[in-house]
Amino acid sequence: MDNCIFCKIAAKQIPSKTIYEDDDVIAFHDINPAAPVHFLIIPKQHVATLADCNESHAALLGKMMLLAPKLAKEQGCGYTPAAEGPGQGGFRTQFHIGPDGGQEVYHLHLHVLGGPRPWRGIR
Ligand code: 5GP
Ligand code: ZN
Repeated sequence: MDNCIFCKIAAKQIPSKTIYEDDDVIAFHDINPAAPVHFLIIPKQHVATLADCNESHAALLGKMMLLAPKLAKEQGCGYTPAAEGPGQGGFRTQFHIGPDGGQEVYHLHLHVLGGPRPWRGIR
């Protein structure tokens, strides 16, 4: 897609702090982090929003979701279950969809946010 900033990041026309890449997806640090760890997982193919996805995107979405805990762990904010008790660490995942979902970039992306609380007013 012309003029899509995340297509340009996927095509390396715009630099990003990439943490993972394969044929289907790329993950990179958010330029304006809202947490100590904040990265985005995006498909390389242009899809505007989660609301545009259908059955043909199921494997891609599954890959994006399964990458979240793996990459969070690599970035130091994975969830480590304790043998007993509440466990350690953790992160949140977010899709923003449309104006009321707070979406600003209309290329599908999964936010992964973590690190010690509080961050930016979030307990
Ligand atoms: P959303 O569309 O879900 O609201 O969020 C878009 C996210 O992309 C924001 O958190 C914003 O900081 C991030 N972002 C926008 N432009 C760039 C960019 O050029 N590079 C990187 N690394 N992140 C970006
Ligand atoms: Zn795009």
